[in-house]
Amino acid sequence: MAYKIGEDCTCCGACESECPNEAISEGVDTYVIDPDKCTECVGQFDESQCAEICPVEACKPDPDHKETRAQLEAKYKKLHP
Ligand code: SF4
Ligand code: SF4
Repeated sequence: MAYKIGEDCTCCGACESECPNEAISEGVDTYVIDPDKCTECVGQFDESQCAEICPVEACKPDPDHKETRAQLEAKYKKLHP
C-alpha cells in the first residue's frame, strides 16, 4: 500500500530526502507521494522512512492504493533493477 501525505503536512520538507525511491516532492499545499514509486520502503527499511521522520504524523498508508507485499517487492525490483 503506497503511503499518502495528509493535510496535516506543514511542508517542512524533512521527508523528501528520506525516501529511498525519490517518491516525495513538494506539491501545491502539501508534500506529495507518487504512488508508483512508493514501496512502503519494502526491500530497504523495516519502517516507512517518511512516517518515521514526519513530526506531525502526516504520512499514512493510502487505502486507495492497496498492494500486497509481493507487489511492493516487484515494484522495488522494477525501480532498482
Ligand atoms: S513509505 Fe518509503 S517509499 Fe513510500 S514514500 Fe515513504 S519513504 Fe518513500
Ligand atoms: S515530514 Fe511531514 S510535515 Fe514535513 S514535508 Fe514531509 S509530510 Fe510534510
